[in-house]
Amino acid sequence: MVDQKLLVEEAKKIIAQEDVKYVIGYKKGTYGFTISPSYAYTPEYAENFIYNPLCAKNLASYPILEEKLPLGREEKEDVRKIGIVAKGCDARSLIQVIQEKGLKRESVVIIGIPCTGVIDPKKIKKRFPNARGETDVVEEGDTYLITVNGETQKVPKDELLSEICRSCESPNPPMYDVLIGEEVEVPEMEEYKNLKELEEINISDKWEYWEKHFERCIRCYACREACPLCYCKECMVDLLDPQWVRRSVNVSENTAWNIMRAFHLAGRCVGCGECERACPVNIPLMELNKKLAKDVKELFEYTSGMDVEEKPLFGTFRPDDPEEFIL
Ligand code: SF4
Ligand code: SF4
Ligand code: SF4
Repeated sequence: MVDQKLLVEEAKKIIAQEDVKYVIGYKKGTYGFTISPSYAYTPEYAENFIYNPLCAKNLASYPILEEKLPLGREEKEDVRKIGIVAKGCDARSLIQVIQEKGLKRESVVIIGIPCTGVIDPKKIKKRFPNARGETDVVEEGDTYLITVNGETQKVPKDELLSEICRSCESPNPPMYDVLIGEEVEVPEMEEYKNLKELEEINISDKWEYWEKHFERCIRCYACREACPLCYCKECMVDLLDPQWVRRSVNVSENTAWNIMRAFHLAGRCVGCGECERACPVNIPLMELNKKLAKDVKELFEYTSGMDVEEKPLFGTFRPDDPEEFIL
């Protein structure tokens, strides 16, 4: 359980620094179980900061979007720092972006959250479909105490936990400026356990499996917009000349889009699950992302977003890198 009082206190201290423009955290959303990102420009505003297992959203995209803001002719860039609340996977995305020179380390102040997992928003919505008014969620060991309209129910954590959190290797932020509380223990687990089944099916069944998913893709690009590592100024699917992927929504073009995105994230994806959470048609995008993360680890002994001093995987090479794929 994260100490909310301590979180607010630390956020206030950071906002009070002259070289910080604002701190991004979480606040209660407007209804039910929704949680919204919150920008605190003054210490008073940080009073509304909260942290609970509903705070799944990876806030790391916001400082990156800020960097992309167009400036007016006379306007000068505001180079003050941005404070940000970050769980393990969120901090990993910041590390990855810093490695790629998308952000500077000195431009962010990270308030680290030792994470015990987050609730899958789709699961809790399904479990409590009519929760529109006041709600509250408190984690107590293996149970969530969930209050809806004044009535509290105990729900086993296992029932609502996000799938990605079951195999999380880095619940503690690998980089932070302030940590809220003590680091959590990283449970021992079989790596990439859920992938085994998928890897074992034969190639044509595998194709059929993905075709069924990709034919449902509506090319809304919510996965791209939600991803902190999809921050190119111009995405290649938006290019018209040359047009790499057609805009028509059909299995062939959808497959091209999804495979292309997965490969662009190879060695970069930090497994935050934001893309899958954002997908309105529930395509299991994390299966693709995890498969690539596993291959990258096995082939190059590399895990993304762990060390800010490390070079990005595809920004370097070793003479003994495997190269069987080069024709
Ligand atoms: S993937 Fe890890 S750090 Fe991220 S929300 Fe889940 S448990 Fe927390
Ligand atoms: S591809 Fe998905 S899981 Fe990977 S970093 Fe982007 S949003 Fe997170
Ligand atoms: S969010 Fe889902 S439906 Fe939208 S483009 Fe991505 S995979 Fe397709």
